[in-house]
Amino acid sequence: MATYKAPVRDMEFVLNEVINVDSLTKIEKFEDATSDIVSGVLEEAAKQIDGTIGVLNESGDDEGARLNDGEVTTPTGFKEAYAAYAESGWIGLDKDIEFDGQGLPYALATAVTDMLSGANAAFSLYPGLSNGAYEALKAHGTQEQKDMYMSHLSLGDWSGTMCLTEPGAGSDLGQVRTKAAPQDDGSYLIEGSKIFITAGEHDLTDNILHLVLARTPGAPEGIRGISMFIAPKFMVNDDGSLGERNSIVCPSIEEKMGIHGSCTCVLNFNNAKGYLVGELNKGIQNMFVMMNAARLMVGLQGLGVAERATQNAITYAKERKQGRPLTRKAESSFDSDTIIVHPDVRRMLLTMKALTEGCRMMAYDTAKHVDLSESHVDADVRAASKARVDLMTPVCKAYITDVGTEVTGLGVLVYGGHGYIKENGMEQNLRDSKIFCIYEGTNGIQSLDLVGRKLSMNGGQLPKDFFADVLEEIESTASELDFIAGPLKSALSELSKVTDWVIESKQNNLNDAAAVAVDYLQMFGLVTVGYYWLRASKVAVANEGRFYQGKMATAKFFATKLLPRVYGIAPVIMAGSDCVMDPEEDLIV
Ligand SMILES: Cc1cc2nc3c(=O)[nH]c(=O)nc-3n(C[C@H](O)[C@H](O)[C@H](O)COP(=O)(O)OP(=O)(O)OC[C@H]3O[C@@H](n4cnc5c(N)ncnc54)[C@H](O)[C@@H]3O)c2cc1C
Repeated sequence: MATYKAPVRDMEFVLNEVINVDSLTKIEKFEDATSDIVSGVLEEAAKQIDGTIGVLNESGDDEGARLNDGEVTTPTGFKEAYAAYAESGWIGLDKDIEFDGQGLPYALATAVTDMLSGANAAFSLYPGLSNGAYEALKAHGTQEQKDMYMSHLSLGDWSGTMCLTEPGAGSDLGQVRTKAAPQDDGSYLIEGSKIFITAGEHDLTDNILHLVLARTPGAPEGIRGISMFIAPKFMVNDDGSLGERNSIVCPSIEEKMGIHGSCTCVLNFNNAKGYLVGELNKGIQNMFVMMNAARLMVGLQGLGVAERATQNAITYAKERKQGRPLTRKAESSFDSDTIIVHPDVRRMLLTMKALTEGCRMMAYDTAKHVDLSESHVDADVRAASKARVDLMTPVCKAYITDVGTEVTGLGVLVYGGHGYIKENGMEQNLRDSKIFCIYEGTNGIQSLDLVGRKLSMNGGQLPKDFFADVLEEIESTASELDFIAGPLKSALSELSKVTDWVIESKQNNLNDAAAVAVDYLQMFGLVTVGYYWLRASKVAVANEGRFYQGKMATAKFFATKLLPRVYGIAPVIMAGSDCVMDPEEDLIV
């Protein structure tokens, strides 16, 4: 059976030493978020999450969510664990104090989400979806809607959903057909069917708030005619008490490859009562607020499961005995040694560690930029951080979740045949991780967002500013870290060259940029992780002890064995789209 222990030391390293999260204490609302508080929060969260939620990972997978007469029952233990998690205030950790949150930085909440996902990815989706609903209401709700709903989302006694997808509207939300008819009292009646709705119906909370995309009569075709509505499972009376049940039914839930403990629902809105959130026909823009938060969260799901796979693979490799080191003569002893002596097993373990720990730094630093973009007193700092979040959101979502599948796949391999067997839990990690590459916009769509929108936003300034930061970091590095600064400088120069090519190719042949978007995002992700390993090395080299020595060893491995992947990707990108687009469809059989 696979186990998970929240990597608190590594989380502290990233938050307190690499990204210096306590610099946020200069912002008045975060003045309590000192490194001591950060460490205390991580330890407390780890205790609860490891002890009560992690233990339900395997049983939740076996049992799954079940549907009976329109009611979903979550796996045994989820209800109690969710209640304890909400009661301890973890859902509201970064939510506003005026809405019953604790007002701590999002960067710190990000670490808690990382551990929750590693402990039990399926469980993490229940509080996770509420986060997006909270952010959407905060950005676009009326004061009355905020007062009515937001405290409940932050306390966790109500949960949220995102109701976008329909049978004919997946990546292309312009095809949404659900209708919303205005009523005299200012409400709307929503009619239509949504599919794949995570946490659309369940038994963990008293109420569920559905944020629904729908069209009003006469709205323009395509994405410009979509509005966002809030439709509660139970109507809310003026005094805040729960009223009658809304006409939203769950006729079925999906059987899935992974995250069995999370229910994925069909939801029928049968003239359900809803209320407009934000402006009419601005639903997609409004939903993007929610989706950006959700995309970072999905990146963390990939990260959490990668961490889980890595921990178990390392433990297993130190216990499982097979074969001898190549350097030991057979005749000296016939005893086999632990598999960690084998170069190929070490390659797998170090790849898992280097990618997982590197992605943790990237994710937490992006989260710190979310805090800066929302709360810093200086408008220029807010704007610069917002630009960094815009650039990094698709990278965090797609690169980290791709790392999630690579690392969980390696985790299965480290166990050999035993990794393919259910009882060891490594195949569950792989099954759970695949969906993270799909929902919240597939990784293909994320790559198009990076290449199609983010590279050219603000006149192309986003990548330029980021590359300048990376270069500055490289140039302020002492020569003892040349082992990583040198390769990173070359990789950055290659990425800059390729970026210019991609931007130019967008002017000439749109298919070129689209055909190479996924490769480009991979290259971008690798260089970004390299940048964070350089920052980690600077901390490690200045400190003593095995933890820091381990960081140096992993940084060296990343710089030598993983960063050079960029030289395989660059020519693939610059080869453009001819061989992709030339074959007629009947040749692809
Ligand atoms: C377990 C699970 C939970 C989910 N939870 C939710 C939820 O809570 N709320 C919600 O609204 N939805 C949810 N979804 C839906 C999910 O977001 C969609 O499945 C996803 O966005 C992809 O849409 P699709 O499945 O229709 O695939 P399609 O859009 O049909 O895509 C199929 C393939 O074509 C590619 N593709 C499509 N369009 C383009 C394009 N323009 N350019 C390049 N490639 C393209 C895609 O990348 C993909 O590889 C969930 C799905 C699952 C399986």
